[in-house]
Amino acid sequence: MDIRFEGKRALVTGAGKGIGREIAAQLVKSGAEVVALSRTQDDLDSLKAELGCLTVLADIGDAQQALKAVEAAGPIDLLVNNAGVAIIEPFLETSLDHWDTVLNINLRAAFVVGQAVAKGMVARGIGGSIVNVSSQASQAALPGHTAYCASKAGLDHLTRMMALELGPHNIRVNAVNPTVILTPMGEKVWGDPAKGAPMLAKIPLGRFGRPIHVADAVLYLLSDKADMITGVMLPVDGGYLVG
Ligand code: NAP
Repeated sequence: MDIRFEGKRALVTGAGKGIGREIAAQLVKSGAEVVALSRTQDDLDSLKAELGCLTVLADIGDAQQALKAVEAAGPIDLLVNNAGVAIIEPFLETSLDHWDTVLNINLRAAFVVGQAVAKGMVARGIGGSIVNVSSQASQAALPGHTAYCASKAGLDHLTRMMALELGPHNIRVNAVNPTVILTPMGEKVWGDPAKGAPMLAKIPLGRFGRPIHVADAVLYLLSDKADMITGVMLPVDGGYLVG
């Protein structure tokens, strides 16, 4: 399937590492003008050198920084709300601080950035496409993942609401729901074989994913090949959620 984005400007949050970095790279390869947003300057410098993309430094857990970043990014046709964090704690030990951090980045920032970008799309009247990077954790309860699971369940429903209310403006909004993907986050949470092996055993395809698996699904949903698709949560999970 030949997917091209010439003439389109894309904003990717959390583009410094892992899945977001791969999405940014694939978008550049497919002809999009990419604005890579992340919160570590070194990552943005290396992205700029490797991909020639535009960069914006911001911690989007802070709504003011997020709004400023969207303004700096300029008019956007394609948005990927990818930035996310995982803080692993049992339910009884989850601190309010950590709950707020996870919810602010994984859910509130997607709302703040999504709303600001969508306002621009509506004002320009030319439609657009948004993909939220959720997780299998939105639907499956995973030990130690209370704040993370709650944030991703919220993100799925935010996706449905955005699809419902932005559809009349020809803005499509979808989510992807990956299983464990081998990124810095994936390695940190699942890298210990004692933790990783039981998770692996529940994946019918018997393997963890790579960033390119998620990037391919995201590019498809962003593209005109998915022109009639909005409001879906697409598992990229090797079959984990069938169980
Ligand atoms: P990662 O390897 O930790 O990379 C995340 C990137 O997002 C980093 O560049 C990070 O910057 C940036 N970021 C985090 N918080 C940010 C903030 N407040 N403002 C701006 N940038 C921020 O994570 P990943 O595995 O690629 O995950 C990407 C997305 O996929 C997340 O939403 C995650 O929940 C989701 N996901 C991941 C997996 C998995 O197994 N890896 C599975 C399902 C879903 P710094 O490094 O500078 O903090």
